[in-house]
Amino acid sequence: MTDFSKLCIHSITTKPWGLDTAAKKYGAAGVGAISVWQDAVASWGGGCSAAGAMIREEGLDVACYVRGGFFTALEGAERTRAIDENKRIIDEAAEIGAPLLVLVCGATPGQSLFESRKQISDGIGATVEHAAKAGVKLGIEPLHPMYADSRSAVNSMSQANAICDEIGHSNLGITVDVFHTWWDDRLQSELTIAGEKDRIFSFHICDWKNLPEDMLNDRGIMGEGVINVSQIRNWVHAAGFNGYEEVEIFSNRYWAMDQDEYLGKIIGAYANLG
Ligand code: ZN
Repeated sequence: MTDFSKLCIHSITTKPWGLDTAAKKYGAAGVGAISVWQDAVASWGGGCSAAGAMIREEGLDVACYVRGGFFTALEGAERTRAIDENKRIIDEAAEIGAPLLVLVCGATPGQSLFESRKQISDGIGATVEHAAKAGVKLGIEPLHPMYADSRSAVNSMSQANAICDEIGHSNLGITVDVFHTWWDDRLQSELTIAGEKDRIFSFHICDWKNLPEDMLNDRGIMGEGVINVSQIRNWVHAAGFNGYEEVEIFSNRYWAMDQDEYLGKIIGAYANLG
């Protein structure tokens, strides 16, 4: 029988459910943890500490809080505001009891990706100590290059490793998402490097459908698309990561269906990973 204790689901995966419903349903299904998106806490309305308590009451851990980042901007004042905003989000992560905040690092049209990466490095450097004091780790999530226009200038594991090397703080590491990294011929070797440096902080799974209809909201369930999720998972495990396997799916199609049935499909697909 499949052990679901390492299975975690992101609240956004079942977006039509409120945070309390998601926690109840995941808990009842034997899922180990939930990763909580800010909008889910905001619409639940009870605040971060109460949300954390409510989730633990359902027998779930909070794996991570999503998301901080967006450090890049043409104007210095905006970059300073982004640093303040990230400190505030780190405090929310601490209140909800999340050990990790995922960073979508940002990219700004009108400046080079090199400049954006420099600003990302400066922004993280200015927040990581605040995170350490709050007991929250920061995970740089490299995003697929199709998002390099405006979401993130960090598009590969090697770029994420380079920023971690530059900052050199034990509270800074990487969130690996199969959707964003599967195409990379350096993926396995960069995972090995990240593992040796104890900086694989979290692992996201879903699938890349053959010819997705939407760049953002048409992700597939594991096994539905072209990613060899089991192989990447083996590499991540071989690199020493032993934490939650977090299902993060944005999908207009799945959000439109019965969410109980959808949760059943996710659990079935996870069991099929072996
Ligand atoms: Zn992700």
